Amino acid sequence: MERDHYEVLGVDRDADAAEVKSAYRRLARQHHPDANDGDSAAESEFKAVAASYKVLSDPEARQSYDRFGHDGPSAGMAGDPFGGINDIFESFFGGGGVGGGGRRRSGPRPGEDLETTILVDFEEAVFGSEEEITVRTAVACTSCEATGRTPGTSAEQCGGCRGSGQVRQVRQSVLGQMVTAAPCPTCSGRGEVFPDPCVDCRGEGRRVEECSFTVNVRAGVDDGTTLRLTGRGAVGPRGGPTGDLYVSVRVRPHPVFERHGTDLYHRLHLPVTQAALGVELDYETLDGDVEVRIPAGTQTGEVFRLRGSGVPHLQGRGRGDIVLEVVVDTPTDLSAEEDKLFRSLAVERGETVREPGDGLISRIRSALR
Ligand SMILES: [Zn+2]
Ligand SMILES: [Zn+2]
Repeated sequence: MERDHYEVLGVDRDADAAEVKSAYRRLARQHHPDANDGDSAAESEFKAVAASYKVLSDPEARQSYDRFGHDGPSAGMAGDPFGGINDIFESFFGGGGVGGGGRRRSGPRPGEDLETTILVDFEEAVFGSEEEITVRTAVACTSCEATGRTPGTSAEQCGGCRGSGQVRQVRQSVLGQMVTAAPCPTCSGRGEVFPDPCVDCRGEGRRVEECSFTVNVRAGVDDGTTLRLTGRGAVGPRGGPTGDLYVSVRVRPHPVFERHGTDLYHRLHLPVTQAALGVELDYETLDGDVEVRIPAGTQTGEVFRLRGSGVPHLQGRGRGDIVLEVVVDTPTDLSAEEDKLFRSLAVERGETVREPGDGLISRIRSALR
């Protein structure tokens, strides 16, 4: 008597895909043969978990299971002797991926796409850099040269499907008789079986390993960009094609510049004297110091552009600008001498200003006098 798939995973019948997946991951880790010293009870539980997940994670198969139970048209899919090991790769790889990964029923299955994140400095994103990354991935098993067979042994035609990889199933349903072709449960659609699987990879033809790559971060890459490294994902089981590696780039913020596309924004604070009289500033750009001329009479909100000092365009040539937005700072905490100078400036310009000591404190003082 086969166990109920929902019971095996310990989820409700109305559990959504995320709940099913997380239950599967937890149980698969718990029962994985590597974590249990090859204990056979754990291994059979691991296989049961993998088989149940295979059904419940596939919307079609799950629907069919809900309607017909274990004898449903897709029942055979759960029998893949390698499926458990293959699916466990998904839990190593954080979800098995963005694109491929594939539920292809026959032919060499492609490897999973992998995802990782790198953190680069602001300048590295602007000018480009090479980043070393390490990912946990699947590589071809060297013991069996990715065949999954013990060297010197050969594959045999599957007895369950006579090598066709498919089995025909006839079902009675409410709509009448239905004939479906399903992947052969014995060989999971490959048409052949390995009587003597490679012991190092358990017939998978690949092994989990840490691999290092150099990622070329092009000049102008922005925070949140995802780079796709074709063919740098996991190799497929038994010589299946390799998946892709997706690298998401995060950029550390800059203390001065705020990036808007290819422009770099900076709110430039100027004392009122420089804004009124003008100044030539040594201004530090990402390429070094340049001279910035602020004309006399510059107002808060005025914008100066340093053309071509921004971020390189990813496509095409040229660079964005540094955009300086001026903020004129009013001086505070005036010394007695500065106070005097401002007052004579006010007199000179015929501007009315508050009398010295005309504050709350002095008004209270004079009232007490
Ligand atoms: Zn092997
Ligand atoms: Zn078969």
